[in-house]
Amino acid sequence: MRILLIEDEEGLILTLTDRLRSEGFDVRSASDGAAGLEIALSESFDLIVLDVMLPKKNGFDVCRDLRKNAVETPILMLTAKGETFDKVLGLKLGADDYLTKPFEIAELLARVEALIRRTANTVQNLNGSFKFGNVAIDFRRAEVLRENKPVELSALEFKLLQYLIEHRGDVLKRDELLDEVWGYDAMPSTRTVDVHIAWLRQKLEDNPKFPKFIQTVHGLGYKFSA
Ligand code: CA
Repeated sequence: MRILLIEDEEGLILTLTDRLRSEGFDVRSASDGAAGLEIALSESFDLIVLDVMLPKKNGFDVCRDLRKNAVETPILMLTAKGETFDKVLGLKLGADDYLTKPFEIAELLARVEALIRRTANTVQNLNGSFKFGNVAIDFRRAEVLRENKPVELSALEFKLLQYLIEHRGDVLKRDELLDEVWGYDAMPSTRTVDVHIAWLRQKLEDNPKFPKFIQTVHGLGYKFSA
């Protein structure tokens, strides 16, 4: 597993590089945004840890340029304390997660592992298809079959189903589903999520009242289990 660390604080580079290497990661680092972008565009990594405040090119611009160049590597952004607005901006520009400085190294490692695990579950890595129970999904063609018969899903239902599958095993809060599936600019209520989950269950579960796959985690949200 290769990690690119784009960070200008020398002390932090040393500490993180040491620790990540001792966890078995192959670490490369860059100490400004322009150099980091160049490396990220020319080599492949499993994860990029990207500071926001960087010389030459800031983390937001690096993130945006990477996504513009179709680099889909997961990005964990490091923000300074209190940059609440900036976190949202980072996620909008295509970052996958963020961590506020100062942080515990153990917390960073946990985020790194979660992001890498999540990527392993993505549709690209599923070869474009997924099966559960009597349901078969072809993500490339956006087709869903149940007992070999086509199931009609709306674009939102399909997106929601894909998100659930990509994050299978994780408890997904309604707010997270709203942000990730509906988007930050949309302002539907969390009730919208419940309604769409109910529709998916109607269409895909043998017994929608006692769902086997699209489960409710009481007080928390939903979980896809296959
Ligand atoms: Ca910095």
